Amino acid sequence: MNRRDFLQNAVTLSAAASVNVVRSEDAPPAESKPPQVFRRPFKGGLSLPSLGYGIFRMPTDEKISQELVDIAMASGVNYFDTAYTYLGGHAEELCARTLAKYPRESYFFATKMPPFMAKDPDGLVRIFDDQLKKSNVEYFDFYLLHNLQINSWADAKRLGMVDFLQKKKDEGKIRNLGFSFHDVPPVLEEIADFHAWDFALIQLNYFDWIPYHCNEQYEILRKRNIPIMVMEPLRGGLLADLGEKGNEVFKKADPNASVASWAFRFVASLPGVVTVLSGMACKEHLLENIQTFSDFHPLTDADRETIRLALEAYGASGTIPCTDCKYCIPCPLEINIPSVFALYNYFKRTENERQRTPGTRQAEQEALHQAALCVSCKQCLPKCPQKINIPAMHRKVVEEGMKRNV
Ligand code: SF4
Ligand code: SF4
Repeated sequence: MNRRDFLQNAVTLSAAASVNVVRSEDAPPAESKPPQVFRRPFKGGLSLPSLGYGIFRMPTDEKISQELVDIAMASGVNYFDTAYTYLGGHAEELCARTLAKYPRESYFFATKMPPFMAKDPDGLVRIFDDQLKKSNVEYFDFYLLHNLQINSWADAKRLGMVDFLQKKKDEGKIRNLGFSFHDVPPVLEEIADFHAWDFALIQLNYFDWIPYHCNEQYEILRKRNIPIMVMEPLRGGLLADLGEKGNEVFKKADPNASVASWAFRFVASLPGVVTVLSGMACKEHLLENIQTFSDFHPLTDADRETIRLALEAYGASGTIPCTDCKYCIPCPLEINIPSVFALYNYFKRTENERQRTPGTRQAEQEALHQAALCVSCKQCLPKCPQKINIPAMHRKVVEEGMKRNV
């Protein structure tokens, strides 16, 4: 079955199955069951889906988000990863509303608490209670200390956050306790050794494997037998479109596979990886990912060579490694930093072949204008998990944009 046929079938079957999820007597016959993502065993006899839903990019239109959740549930994508801060603080509520029609034990609800928001030990209690209320649950299946870096880890220790959350686990309010991480390997080592963690969520993808020390982070967790959840498998969308030359290498190796599927297969083929999170903002991405994870082929040596060649073709294209996480905003000058970088990367990737239309010129001018506002106050620097020198990149955007316009 080619990709187009698969997507068409999956839409029809998922829609049918989603209606019937809680009414088993009406369940469709086995042969019409929508494709199921493969599962991996987890501690406590749990079986987790290889693909998890990142609520970070979920549309806030509830009709759309409900449809996406229904399609996901029908294909076994029943791990939902949210956080106290996502979608302007509304992600937990949105997640809870879309899951309300399903039995509590049929899905896994994951959320996170950022140390910087708690400020004092009372803050821990206030935020945790608020999360339970917003999420409309009695317990969280997975709970994470959010975005640990050297400074936030120091905050977490000062607040006694791990002890607090362990107590919540002992009370049955948390089933599995872990952390999400964005820093260098020595910091990860310290955190990994601090507690008997049930899991860890790290940024893992083939693009960052060496430069961002993904390989070392992966080994640190493997050595300690800590189950791994993956974020940023597509590196903020970059690995769904590796530029014309990079994409060409993938298409030549397998014309039916999407460029993104190579990135998902890379991480899901690594031993110790349990669930790969993806922020699927539209039906097409969700169905495409369900295809990748339901008809899963682990990477072969030849596939790894294809990825290497694609990266080589992508080469030093000079794009900015921004993942659109938005942690750096607001900027006091109101610069929309991720939007400037996304536009710059788009122009960079399509520099030679793109049409210069009035629309693209206007977008480029807007990015240039915003980048030029930067006064290098450096307030954004410690907030960027990718360690991007944001003011320096703004200067680069301005300088290169100017050159193209002379
Ligand atoms: S360095 Fe530039 S982008 Fe960053 S906060 Fe300051 S003005 Fe904004
Ligand atoms: S510049 Fe850094 S913090 Fe800002 S959106 Fe990009 S990756 Fe995230």
